[in-house]
Amino acid sequence: MPSIKNLWGSEHDRPDRYDERIRRETIANYGYQKGPEDEKTQWVLRHFNSVARQYDLMNTLLSFGIHYLWKRTAIGTLGLEPGDLVLDVCGGTGDLAILAKRAVGASGEVVVYDINRAMIDAGRFKKTNADDRNRIRYVQGNAEQIAFPDEHFDAVMVGFGIRNVTHMEQGFREMLRVLKPGGRMMCLEFSKPSNPVFCRLYDFYSFTIMPLLGQLLAGTRQAYTHLPESIRLFPLPDELKTILERIGYTQVSWRRLTNGIAVIHTGKKQDR
Ligand code: SAM
Repeated sequence: MPSIKNLWGSEHDRPDRYDERIRRETIANYGYQKGPEDEKTQWVLRHFNSVARQYDLMNTLLSFGIHYLWKRTAIGTLGLEPGDLVLDVCGGTGDLAILAKRAVGASGEVVVYDINRAMIDAGRFKKTNADDRNRIRYVQGNAEQIAFPDEHFDAVMVGFGIRNVTHMEQGFREMLRVLKPGGRMMCLEFSKPSNPVFCRLYDFYSFTIMPLLGQLLAGTRQAYTHLPESIRLFPLPDELKTILERIGYTQVSWRRLTNGIAVIHTGKKQDR
């Protein structure tokens, strides 16, 4: 683990050619640990198997419920309309999908796309999903090879998930491929608070309280140690904007939530 002063690394530790470096070195990060590139997906699967049943509760406790506000704000940026077809990549327990489903109505459709069956099941049968259970579709698959044809969706989104995808840029490329021309993309992800004092407090909270609560409430200290580590390795907002533009998204912009603990990136697929 880096020193407490350098938890967030520098632009040199967070090279923006993530996939290229991982493929060249055949080594991927599992939090601050490193391991074989081709074993990371299995590692992530095991990780989410261990937290699936407690995932929503832990999110609510660890964020003091604020994640619901972030998700509502994030969905608002997509400007969804009745009838839209929406893909929720790394959709997990489906909070974003449930909100999207309300926006697109009975004539629209939302697909939760996730690699982990335990996460899908935890979301499918939860109370907040009771109205929409049969109106959201669930597809199990890897975000690096999205099992839908080109130009299929009006909007695609990923919430707190792309960090876990071994080849993040490949995930974003796939999201762009399945978007219709003129379609919208939204990525909601954790990031670095902009106020340095708040950032220090957040670091303390992340590396002491979070793992402790993980151990006590979800029975896994490791999963909730990995979480803050992976956040600190993720590109900062401007770095991610550059990556998204290089992949081909247009009109990329971002906004901070709660002093930057979370950030929403939005972009579009070029209209024809
Ligand atoms: N989007 C949900 C939310 O906002 O609460 C769930 C986020 S959860 C932190 C991350 C999800 O990404 C997990 O459900 C995990 O199974 C999924 N995931 C990780 N790697 C994936 C991959 N390569 N392809 C598809 N899903 C993946």
